[in-house]
Amino acid sequence: MFDRFNRKINYLRISVTDRCNLRCVYCMPEEGVQLLSHQDILTFDEIVEVAKAAVRKGVDKIRITGGEPLVRKGIVDLVEMIGKIDGIKDYSMTTNAILLDKYAEDLAKAGLQRVNISLDTLDPDAFRKITRGGDIQKVFDGIEAAKKAGLGPIKINCVIKETNQEPNAVEVAKYCEENNLEVRFIKEMDLETGSFSIVQGGSGGNCAKCNRIRLTANGNIKPCLFSDISYNVRELGYERAIDLAIGNKPQSGHTNITGKFYNIGG
Ligand code: SF4
Repeated sequence: MFDRFNRKINYLRISVTDRCNLRCVYCMPEEGVQLLSHQDILTFDEIVEVAKAAVRKGVDKIRITGGEPLVRKGIVDLVEMIGKIDGIKDYSMTTNAILLDKYAEDLAKAGLQRVNISLDTLDPDAFRKITRGGDIQKVFDGIEAAKKAGLGPIKINCVIKETNQEPNAVEVAKYCEENNLEVRFIKEMDLETGSFSIVQGGSGGNCAKCNRIRLTANGNIKPCLFSDISYNVRELGYERAIDLAIGNKPQSGHTNITGKFYNIGG
C-alpha cells in the first residue's frame, strides 16, 4: 500500500509487550512504569490477525519488538504463528539478548530469520550502569547462540549520545567487525521534544523514505513513531485501523507526547 506521499508501506513493527527485563536509562524510568494490564495486551490470535491484514495490504517485512519480546510468555509459539503467514519476506526480532541463548534455536525453528541486538558498550560496568543492572555476558552468550542457530545477519543496535566516535561506539564497531556483525548507530531520541535522526547503517528515522507502521502491545496502529496519531484495532477492526494509519501517515515525524519507547517498540 502507498501513503499520501507515495511512500510504499511494506514494514510492520509489532510490539508484543511493554515489559522488559532491563531498565535502560534512555528508555525506562528508574522507578519502573505503569504496565499495561493483561486484558489490554493483544492476544496471540489478535496479533496474528493484524499481521495477516497487513500482509494482505502489501507488508512483507515484519519485526517483533517490545519492551523486550522474549519476556512475553509463549513467544516462540507466537513467532511460529506469524511465521506461517504467506508473503513475509523479511522476518526479524529486536531483542536485548539477555534471554536469547535460551530461545535462539527454537526461534529459528519457528521461522524467525534474523535478530537485531541492543549493545551500547563492551564494558561490563558501563553496561550494568546503562541497563541498570544487566549482565553483559548474557548478551555475548545470546549473540553466539544466534550465530549457532543461523539467525542472521545479526545487526547490533548501538545507542550513541552524539557521534559514532564516542569511545563505547568505537569499541562496539571494532567488536562487530571482528565478529561478522553489522553495527548500526542510533542517536538517543526524545519523543516529547521530537529529537531524532537517521539511523546510521539502517533506514529508521528517514521520513522521506519511511516504509513503516507500528502495532503497540495494546492494539494501536501507529503511522509514525514521532506522532500521537494511532488507531485501535479492537475499536476499528484490523483492516480499517491499518487503512486509517496508512491513509493518515504524516509526511515526517514531529513529537509524541502520549507514547513511550517501551510500549511502542522504538
Ligand atoms: S519519524 Fe515517523 S515518518 Fe519519520 S521515519 Fe520515523 S516513523 Fe517514519
